[in-house]
Amino acid sequence: MYLQKCIKSGKIFHAYIFAGSEGLGKTTVARLFFQTLACKLFNPTIASFPCNTCKVCQQMQSGSHPDLYWLAPVHSPFLLLDDIQSLRSRLSKRAFFSGITFVGIEKAHLLTPEASSALLKLIEEPVTRLCCIFLTSAYAALPETLRSRTHVIFFHPVSQSLISDSLRDRCSHKQALELAQESFGRPGFALQALATPELRKNLHTLVAHFLKVLHTKKLAARLTMLEALFFRGISTQHTRARFQEICEVWSFVLRDIFFVKLDQKKYLRFPTFVEQYNNFAAQITSRHLLQMMQDTIRITQAMKTNITPQLLLEQFFLQHSFS
Ligand SMILES: [Zn+2]
Repeated sequence: MYLQKCIKSGKIFHAYIFAGSEGLGKTTVARLFFQTLACKLFNPTIASFPCNTCKVCQQMQSGSHPDLYWLAPVHSPFLLLDDIQSLRSRLSKRAFFSGITFVGIEKAHLLTPEASSALLKLIEEPVTRLCCIFLTSAYAALPETLRSRTHVIFFHPVSQSLISDSLRDRCSHKQALELAQESFGRPGFALQALATPELRKNLHTLVAHFLKVLHTKKLAARLTMLEALFFRGISTQHTRARFQEICEVWSFVLRDIFFVKLDQKKYLRFPTFVEQYNNFAAQITSRHLLQMMQDTIRITQAMKTNITPQLLLEQFFLQHSFS
């Protein structure tokens, strides 16, 4: 792997961008990379991974290592200049363990332009030896200045067989296969779903709900069901994020039904619903299904504008139904 080559050759860059969808393992790899660089017993000529037993490894794993910093937009929707300035003042104290300071920045696309410039300055005129990793699921949204001055590594989806193989000693064979299928190339999602069964349950609820709304013929009943899904108990601030999550699930359901029509069931993301899919596939033409898929993409994109989510959804369900 590329990063192992960097470590072996001793050629470590000041700053990397790890880019790719959520759940592809960017954070896990970043943590492992930092730990490998810090591990006191790691010998690149005989091993590819850190020892996992020394004190430094344990501190890196628990996040308590004094030279390790993680920045994430927790209290504010953006990473602000203040966060970077406080990091700068903390870094002015010399790193005392590994001689290198590790900085991980999650959701780097949420950095304000000022914070991004301050960070670049920090990287280019370091007060200590730095290794900084910017993690993002929206590479194109990063400022050009950041993209051109860092080393970019793209993360790609992982094969289903690789994900299911890696899960086999943690759960049953059947569950490993299901999780691999539902994770859709994202090992991080599979692991999270294994640790938090609620995650999978919620996804299945969304799939079942979408199928139910599509199946309901009376328009008034449909709109009431939609309203319950999107707007009850959700603040306006979270409506759009929730909407995008739901639209993504809808896109996968429509895609699944399309693959059922093509008799390609091995490609389904939610094979649990194959019986309902069969039912819908028999009632709808491929052309109508493609139109629905295109409309789902269109409304997801329209979400980025100021159009009210409710209007977009109503329009979708006025246009499309199974009868
Ligand atoms: Zn170690």
